[in-house]
Amino acid sequence: MKKAVFPGSFDPITLGHVDIIERALPLFDEIVIAIGINADKKYMFDIEQRKAFIEQTFKNQPKIKIDTYKGLTVDYCKKNNASFILRGLRNPADFEFEKAIAQTNRKLSGIETIFLLTSAETSFISSSIVRDIIRNDGNASSFVPPIVLK
Ligand code: ADP
Repeated sequence: MKKAVFPGSFDPITLGHVDIIERALPLFDEIVIAIGINADKKYMFDIEQRKAFIEQTFKNQPKIKIDTYKGLTVDYCKKNNASFILRGLRNPADFEFEKAIAQTNRKLSGIETIFLLTSAETSFISSSIVRDIIRNDGNASSFVPPIVLK
């Protein structure tokens, strides 16, 4: 069984994340969307809200599971028998950042990171810009699943 973990903050989930997840579905038998909990980070949406947004978005997709985790992503993968980490790439900055993490994770655990290139339509979308729009009462409906703005 090919199982991948898609780790992230998802604060909140955007249409960029949704695009990567939907395009990865044919590649894996199961994808666990794993929301990392970092005690030092300040989030706009609490963990229950972020989880509920993702659950609602994929409620009709049996291949997708949603979970939260603390600690190293590779430890979470090993505990859950996942051999792959899924990540999205938008630009050279993502590449440089992700390259170091992926190589470190492979050295630590042998787990391979699979990258999907962002779609042209969603390549500019980021959770941080979406948070800015929401904070300033702008209209973020083109960037996130509808449930995030309910
Ligand atoms: P993290 O804090 O781990 O970067 P994010 O929720 O910001 O968590 O992102 C999770 C993953 O989704 C990362 O691999 C990121 O590159 C990817 N991602 C975010 N936005 C997009 C997008 N618009 N297109 C493709 N991938 C994206």
